[in-house]
Amino acid sequence: MKLFYHPDQERHAPPSFLLRGRAVDSPEGPVRAEMLAGGLAGVGLALSAPAASDSERLRKRLARIHTPRYLAFLETIHARWSALPGAAEMVAPNVHPCGGGHHYPRHPVGQVGWHMHDMACPMTADSFPGILASAASAEAAAEAVLAGDASAYALCRPPGHHAGPDRAGGFCFLNNSALAAEVLRERYPRVAILDVDLHHGNGTQDIFYARGDVWTGSLHADPADFYPFFWGGANEVGEGEGRGANHNVPLPLGSDGAAFMAALEALIAAMSAFKPEALVVPLGLDAHRDDPLAGLALETDDFFTLGRRLAALDLPTVLVQEGGYPTAHLGHNLAAFMGGYIAA
Ligand SMILES: [Zn+2]
Repeated sequence: MKLFYHPDQERHAPPSFLLRGRAVDSPEGPVRAEMLAGGLAGVGLALSAPAASDSERLRKRLARIHTPRYLAFLETIHARWSALPGAAEMVAPNVHPCGGGHHYPRHPVGQVGWHMHDMACPMTADSFPGILASAASAEAAAEAVLAGDASAYALCRPPGHHAGPDRAGGFCFLNNSALAAEVLRERYPRVAILDVDLHHGNGTQDIFYARGDVWTGSLHADPADFYPFFWGGANEVGEGEGRGANHNVPLPLGSDGAAFMAALEALIAAMSAFKPEALVVPLGLDAHRDDPLAGLALETDDFFTLGRRLAALDLPTVLVQEGGYPTAHLGHNLAAFMGGYIAA
């Protein structure tokens, strides 16, 4: 299996974010990549860099899942923000168009509020190249599968599945998993995205909600009690041509591996009716019981079972790293997943 990580990804390294009204150390930093790479090395898997961290082709593909104004915002906002009198070093919103705005503002503060739906997406001067490099890793993994590999992995950080067509959220800026699906669509008419992260993949759902060519499914801690709070219910089934092509399985907080695997089977049954020809797995590892974002109670062995089950689907598959935050278990959880996936 080819595995991708671009060293420029570490340029996105915000030191803190706002949680429950307090500035706290960000759990979404370059140390995650070190831990994940260490876990892969432990099972004999090595990462390689995509040929480029930015290209015209990558930008054209991103424009199929994100709006032009949002892509321009991500690239230019730090410089425009920094020119404001009294601005902090990191871009952060302090106003939001709750209930929906009637016009798109020109002012940087208004645009930050428009494009960032929470306080978990601070950007520094070096963030944009790091964010773009993460997308480039997802693109490279998808291209490996297009070229005939059975599966490939992208160590994407920052992650992507909370990023929608026009906005960032939950540490996510560009939707790496949606990008991988778009690349697979260049060859496969029907692509499925099976999101196993602790959190609902609300950005991915948004991007494909009205499309019938990309099936989206997610199992996650119940958003009635958990981030992202406003999306992820079982009643969200898609709309228009996408009606029936979105499937959510919320789980009670604290659910264990057995409940998780039962939910996965329900999701796989729904996905199978769609008859996908290729698969993207937004691979969160934050459902582990000791993850600092604490929502579910999986053990390391459960990730082995998960990997084995997903490999048994026997579809051309792109594995895209999503969540999973620093603990002594993070690398082992990825190693366990890969062990199950490769053994299958
Ligand atoms: Zn997550």
